[in-house]
Amino acid sequence: MLQTLKTYFGYDSFRPLQEEIIRNVLARRDTLVLMPTGGGKSICYQLPALLMEGTTVVISPLISLMKDQVEALRANGIAAAALNSGNSEAENALLRKNCLQGRIKLLYISPERLMGEVNFLLKDINVSLFAIDEAHCISQWGHDFRPEYTQLKVLRKEFPRIPMIALTATADKITRQDILDQLQLKDPRIFISSFDRPNLSLTVKRGYQQKEKMRAILDFIDRHRGQCGIIYCMSRNKTEIVAAALQRHGISATMYHAGLSPAARDRAQEDFINDRVQVVCATIAFGMGIDKSNVRWVIHYNLPKSMENFYQEIGRAGRDGLESDTLLFYSLGDIILLSKFANESSQQEINLDKLHRMQQYAEADICRRRILLNYFGENREYDCGHCDVCLNPPQRFDGTILVQKALSAIVRANERISTHLLVDVLRGNYTHEITSNGFDRLKTFGAGRDVPARDWQDYLLQMLQLGYFEIAYNEDNHLKVTESGRKILFGQEKAMLVVIRRDKEETKKKGQRKKSVEKERPLLKPELREEDDDLFEILRAHRKKLADEQGYPAYIVLSDKVLHLLCSIRPTTVEAFGNISGIGDFKREKYGDGFVSLIRKYLKKQ
Ligand code: ADP
Ligand code: ZN
Repeated sequence: MLQTLKTYFGYDSFRPLQEEIIRNVLARRDTLVLMPTGGGKSICYQLPALLMEGTTVVISPLISLMKDQVEALRANGIAAAALNSGNSEAENALLRKNCLQGRIKLLYISPERLMGEVNFLLKDINVSLFAIDEAHCISQWGHDFRPEYTQLKVLRKEFPRIPMIALTATADKITRQDILDQLQLKDPRIFISSFDRPNLSLTVKRGYQQKEKMRAILDFIDRHRGQCGIIYCMSRNKTEIVAAALQRHGISATMYHAGLSPAARDRAQEDFINDRVQVVCATIAFGMGIDKSNVRWVIHYNLPKSMENFYQEIGRAGRDGLESDTLLFYSLGDIILLSKFANESSQQEINLDKLHRMQQYAEADICRRRILLNYFGENREYDCGHCDVCLNPPQRFDGTILVQKALSAIVRANERISTHLLVDVLRGNYTHEITSNGFDRLKTFGAGRDVPARDWQDYLLQMLQLGYFEIAYNEDNHLKVTESGRKILFGQEKAMLVVIRRDKEETKKKGQRKKSVEKERPLLKPELREEDDDLFEILRAHRKKLADEQGYPAYIVLSDKVLHLLCSIRPTTVEAFGNISGIGDFKREKYGDGFVSLIRKYLKKQ
């Protein structure tokens, strides 16, 4: 097993659970694998496919996913193919012939297509194993339900002796049971790996207004120069606005949402996968089918509606295991809008509850990773040291007077005031809306002039979370002071607020910026020597050239991780090149000479 792992995939050891899973499959037992994105599920059936006689049939929901997997396998010299509607008749005919002659080790197929072949191709070839990828698609409780997946029940009936392995990154219990039931797995062993993604940093920024958000994003991208990322937005409109703003600043950005034509969406996805564009501004429609391993960061421009969505979306960063950053913006406006959606949805209670959990995460002043993992049922008893809360624990101050000012203004406005007007009242702004409502005559008008508007936004968010007032979503979002709010207002209790920390780097000049950031968090680059940016760029350009020649995305040729390793280990012989983790025999022979001679040339010049 280890030798096959090394020869074909270039890895020296298994990740947690991989070996046990593979042994189980090789013993021809049914298996269910729950592993987070990037955990290394593919090898769990690809390695057995190489070791077993016959062809492993992999069921996969999307053509783009199949394409990616097949390309990655072929790039490692493994005979893999996909049977799908994207192929021409002639291609499919040739493929059938190869299958019948037993020349294909892994055959990818969509569930629809599979149904058509159950009594034909599949009966004629020697199937070693059925692997059902993205198995949660079978469950209507899951978020990616695909009716075609329910037809997979047929497999057990038609092929009672052939082992099955189902794999997914969605772990909830209902979905899990649904998979077992529907596929009728026989006495299955279930492997659940940790859902932690330690290479993802977690940061939340609260109460930013549009302009500040944009500035923070530009800053963030500046710190991630040349690195690909995704910005998730709540609406189609926002994706367009953000993409346009980035373009104006010379950043190559595109957008992706369900309102675009299929052709435009495909183009955006292809451009992103092939590193032709650095940033995709997208709605939640974007993501499934993105196997791109070198997404280096994910930003949430708006709060997601649930922790499931959030975790899945940030999970698209750092699949190669390298350090990747995530950033979530959280504002009062988002909460108001999302609550409205949840209230109007058919599953009101569940959706409000999910939103509430998301809000708690964003508001948290304890380690965010602990909250995340606990949410997904994994008990974690220590802090991660790698989220913004761990790095900069929040400080509190006695904010009773601030809170009293705000609550008193609400009461004096007869609780018929929304947050943005409230801020105007506190700041003493004579806007038309203020004067026409007579709010400028309130005793509290201008009582909070000394606090900037954006800080008021933040304090109000904290007050909402502390339960001092509620928002009546069905009454023009008017604010209502609660019982605990009244206790503060009448001086019976104190209100402790969190000190607002604005990022220093956002106000500093460019040159200074970099340093403060690096100090903030040391980059966990893979290994050894300081890397040299020049060498990295040379190797990266070479990789791009090879990718373009073959029509592959760059990360299929070599992953970012391998590129970094090359940069620090600097192999000068093809043999040493082949020893690098992630380079199997096939890639060694194919690319070794080229990379080694570039490295030698570079070293000579030093
Ligand atoms: P998943 O399907 O679970 O999202 P993948 O199978 O795509 O994850 O694997 C994620 C990344 O981890 C890939 O780049 C893969 O090559 C790498 N990987 C998998 N197994 C190992 C291993 N044993 N050692 C090193 N890297 C691995
Ligand atoms: Zn933490």
